[in-house]
Amino acid sequence: MKEDGGRPSAVTASSVAASSVAAPPALELRGVSAAYGRFRALFGVSLSVPVGSVTALVGPNGAGKSTIARVATGLVPLTKGRIFLAGGDVTGLPTWRLVRLGVAHAPEGRSVFATLDVEDNLRLTFMRAFGRKGIGEALAHAFERFPRLADRRRQLAGTLSGGEQRMLALARVLTVPPKLLVVDELSLGLAPRVVDDVYRALREIRDAGTSLLVIEQQLPRALELAEQLVVLRKGQVVEAGPVDKLSDLARELLPRPPENS
Ligand code: ATP
Repeated sequence: MKEDGGRPSAVTASSVAASSVAAPPALELRGVSAAYGRFRALFGVSLSVPVGSVTALVGPNGAGKSTIARVATGLVPLTKGRIFLAGGDVTGLPTWRLVRLGVAHAPEGRSVFATLDVEDNLRLTFMRAFGRKGIGEALAHAFERFPRLADRRRQLAGTLSGGEQRMLALARVLTVPPKLLVVDELSLGLAPRVVDDVYRALREIRDAGTSLLVIEQQLPRALELAEQLVVLRKGQVVEAGPVDKLSDLARELLPRPPENS
């Protein structure tokens, strides 16, 4: 499989639609097992994320959802099985190679440069992705998406609140859309209005061709966005299919949101 030096591809919704007829999935796990030392966390997991669409991964606490995110992004090694990106076997590749192939992991990749201000953090990312000429437009887009960051553009990133740092990291990921974005509990600890902004941005990058695997404890949020659902329990896939067929099962498995309890 060809590496593209980490630059965003110019995939458009129409090119995805035209090519998705026989396109291999953006991500495919085949019979994947993984462990933390002697503790086995995944048992023969198979799932796929079709190109240009959103697959939500749901299941109770400790089911192994984050472990799947880590396995898919090279952070936890497999003990069995294989992983494919767009049909290419990437089993065993380190994270940096997967990043070059267009895989991003949020919020694992939330590190910000603490001693640089907000704007310089963004400039650095956008310079790499778009070159000097593209910085202005990318900055405007990021600030429009996250107005709070615009208010704080001259503040050192290390002095931002936890939520603001998360927003800054997200602004970097969402303004330079990857080919595959693995999203792990993005809404955790963010104010509802910010979560709305984040989901709007996820929808936009999906429409621009990014494929997404979304781990989300708030089922209604996941159902808003996803076309496919994978239900995980005790390290195994118990159901997988279109959202409308599986949402009742997922509701049974997931904890009720606080307002209903
Ligand atoms: P949650 O919804 O609560 O975040 P999850 O479905 O994402 O859970 P994982 O975080 O993938 O679940 O954890 C799966 C299992 O692996 C759990 O039993 C957990 O305790 C265990 N586990 C996760 N990380 C480690 C680790 N670093 N060392 C040992 N065990 C771990």
